[in-house]
Amino acid sequence: PDVINEPLFAANNVCDIDKVKAALKDPSKITMVQCAPAVRVALGEDFGMELGSLTSGKMAAALKALNFDKIYDTNFAADLTIMEEGHELIKRVTEGGTLPMFTSCCPAWVKFLETNFPELTDHLSSCKSPQQMAGAVFKTYGAKVNKIDAKDIYSISIMPCTCKKFECDRPEMDSSGYRDVDAVLTTRELAYLIKDAGIDFNSLEEIPFESPLGVYTGAGTIFGVTGGVMEAALRTAYEVITGEEIPSIDIPAVRGRDGFRTTEVQIGELTLKVGVVTGLKNVVPILEDLKSGKLDLHFIEVMTCPAGCVSGGGQPKLLLEEYRETAYDNRIKSTYKHDANLPLRKSHNNPEITKIYSKFLKEPLGKVSHSLLHTKYCIKNK
Ligand code: SF4
Repeated sequence: PDVINEPLFAANNVCDIDKVKAALKDPSKITMVQCAPAVRVALGEDFGMELGSLTSGKMAAALKALNFDKIYDTNFAADLTIMEEGHELIKRVTEGGTLPMFTSCCPAWVKFLETNFPELTDHLSSCKSPQQMAGAVFKTYGAKVNKIDAKDIYSISIMPCTCKKFECDRPEMDSSGYRDVDAVLTTRELAYLIKDAGIDFNSLEEIPFESPLGVYTGAGTIFGVTGGVMEAALRTAYEVITGEEIPSIDIPAVRGRDGFRTTEVQIGELTLKVGVVTGLKNVVPILEDLKSGKLDLHFIEVMTCPAGCVSGGGQPKLLLEEYRETAYDNRIKSTYKHDANLPLRKSHNNPEITKIYSKFLKEPLGKVSHSLLHTKYCIKNK
């Protein structure tokens, strides 16, 4: 199917291609790049590959060929998000806190809530999104392990999402003393950059993302699909609370494309009631139920785009609707297949996550985490 290759479409007409090109040529800058989970199952479509083809290795090779200094991965930060968000949920449920807790990794959802239901913002998780966590970690722990000065780091993210450009500019996102993320490119803008540099994407030899901030589990990669954050959080919350292995690592009840789906998960003595929402039109009745005291859930994932980030506004665009739906379905299937084939599938089993806590963060929800990885969303009615 035809693909519209339009790189310059972005929220607020912001296009960071020129800024990124300048940073790549600037010898005083160390470029650290991260790629969101959904990008790897869509980028290949701009190079004529089958819809939903997994291109993690080629994408990493393309970034190397473009001369990025450190090829890291948002999936690592997705694992980190689960550690923080999972512990935040456990704390709110067991010690008392505002419930239900809403996920906060979709900036369009966060902004929608702030603008239309400001009285409910305490329900948001205080976690920054994986994009912002990765950026904050690049300029602190990343600077430390690479023995470089944080001021020299230029932090770039490749996202399926035009709204991530807005998120990186939010005033709260500089708790390390530097902006977490300096520039955001969408999937389409990355494809443009690769073509512009004359790189033959299809013939690139696959390479892995770099350690330590590019190592990830299956739980990190399913962040790219609706229900994925919930499933990843449940995998970790179950094992942290019970100290036992989760009986089934796949949680089909939170998968699918329905606008609102709920399930109950038995975790030891606790019956955790969870919901997954995709598409903002589906969240309004839920928020009204919450306000009128009719909602009985502990944790709700909300994503703005119809199939989650795999269908984000920065992904390759398909001209015909029939292909669009197939693309979404294939990207979802490809994401779950990638998860199933990875050697580690739970965020708390990621060895580099263990290491960052032992060497730097110390503990989930600890002092360092709170200052770097959490925030208070503060934009009101703009
Ligand atoms: Fe962006 Fe859509 Fe993903 Fe939300 S669901 S983070 S708007 S791509």
